[in-house]
Amino acid sequence: MTFQALLVEKGGDGAVSASVQEIDDARLPDGDVTVAVEYSTLNYKDGLCINGKGGLVRSFPHVPGVDFAGTVEASEDPRYRPGDRVVLTGWRVGEIWWGGFATRAKVKADWLVPLPDELSTRQAMAIGTAGLTSMLSVIALEKAGLSPLKGEVLVTGAAGGVGSVGVALLARLGYSVAAVTGRSDAAGYLRQLGAETIVDRSELSEANSRPLESERWAGAIDAVGGDMLARVLKQTKYGGAVAAVGLAAGAAVPSFTVIPFLLRGVSLLGIDSVMRPYEQRVDAWNRIAADLPMEKLEAMVVEHRLSDLPELANRILDGKVKGRVVIDVNA
Ligand code: NDP
Repeated sequence: MTFQALLVEKGGDGAVSASVQEIDDARLPDGDVTVAVEYSTLNYKDGLCINGKGGLVRSFPHVPGVDFAGTVEASEDPRYRPGDRVVLTGWRVGEIWWGGFATRAKVKADWLVPLPDELSTRQAMAIGTAGLTSMLSVIALEKAGLSPLKGEVLVTGAAGGVGSVGVALLARLGYSVAAVTGRSDAAGYLRQLGAETIVDRSELSEANSRPLESERWAGAIDAVGGDMLARVLKQTKYGGAVAAVGLAAGAAVPSFTVIPFLLRGVSLLGIDSVMRPYEQRVDAWNRIAADLPMEKLEAMVVEHRLSDLPELANRILDGKVKGRVVIDVNA
């Protein structure tokens, strides 16, 4: 049997190219569950993998796709049977293991999560790693004591994947949400998702040398990193918490000082979705099914096919993809 996949190849000159190809099943990796993939999605990391950037892909040819959702076709593991609906995010699938930009995938049973009955495979990929990470951030903020009564919550990189889902989730949970964006045309979109306040990126992107600024945010989900994370920490209210998710503006935080921790008891919460233990993934997917407004999710989605991925990869690396991209691998 064969399957369709986006195959990334490296030429003799080191140049990396990606194209949709028909591939023999015998080339699938040696996993214990075979999944008929229905939908995948596009993450920033996928942009890197498709272009062979960032050193994420170790061996070529490679099938990228960090996330997928589909139906089990065959299983050597008693936890899964043919017909079960499953979702996979992270575990470095799509980076060092062949991933979801394909109509068939073979993976380890430990990496799969049964899809909650309330979610379709398409909705699961509209959520994807980005949405799961937003949910994990909300759960971490709640554990740190955040509640809607504490005040405004900030989401940075708000028109991106993590940010869009974060805005919709927090608004649904009753928070007053402020959304930071650099896009002049994103205000309507973000308000539709539930943001009450739009903050222009320029208000927070410049480093300053002040150890603290006026207290404003009860909490934050930060997908941007860099000096913006430092500014957010300086503006977080006494006892508040910031979930550090991403590095869209860079990994280094040059203007960072520990003063917000020492004088305001602010907490910085590290969020990893890739190696997250199984039980926490199941909890987060169940919370998503319960708390994420599906009509708002649909408003974030644009659907594409496998052959669109090389162009989409460049767009996400340029910060030009809004909301969530769903890939119908069978289209
Ligand atoms: P997207 O590209 O969809 O969104 C990132 C957003 O960040 C952009 O839409 C933009 O928002 C903003 N942004 C981009 N460049 C800059 C900049 N130079 N300065 C300020 N803001 C900027 O990516 P995702 O939402 O999928 O991922 C966001 C980050 O989170 C990435 O760094 C990703 O690697 C990381 N991530 C981490 C995970 C984890 O497990 N910790 C899981 C998933 C993602 P706007 O247009 O509104 O200004």
